[in-house]
Amino acid sequence: MDPTGIELTLGGRAVRYFPGGAAFEPPEDVRYLDPVEDGLLERNPRVRRILFTPFPALPPVVLYLHWSDGGGLPELDARVVAREAGDEDFGGAVTGQTVTRRCRACAARFAVLYSVDFPGFPDMPRRLAGHRHIPRCPACDARWTAYVLEVIRRLPDA
Ligand SMILES: [Zn+2]
Repeated sequence: MDPTGIELTLGGRAVRYFPGGAAFEPPEDVRYLDPVEDGLLERNPRVRRILFTPFPALPPVVLYLHWSDGGGLPELDARVVAREAGDEDFGGAVTGQTVTRRCRACAARFAVLYSVDFPGFPDMPRRLAGHRHIPRCPACDARWTAYVLEVIRRLPDA
């Protein structure tokens, strides 16, 4: 498997796709890659990593495709590897990046996967409306910011 990813076009945008468990050798200038959180997301069955270059002169950014239910992802990986995957295979996906969130109610800190826009998915509001997310702090159950896709881990108190 190519450790620099497999070519894929999503909504007319060229990306590099990494099947689950595939070797990952990111370019040195990649942005928004947190190695610790990336290593944890790599084993998440609802997540697949892509690299996307927003503008030709800029380095690539890492984005994570996220599905509410990742049951079909091994089959999707095989379709991408075989160059058979198309936009219809990604209708249930949204895109996220890793960020730190601090609960306003209890001050617990978490590394989370948070939804972000991706120009290949111009219908992101519709996608998010049907997407499962985590609306409450896992520590105290207070409602928090919308569109946390995954809680990756709790961070030490600051
Ligand atoms: Zn809390």
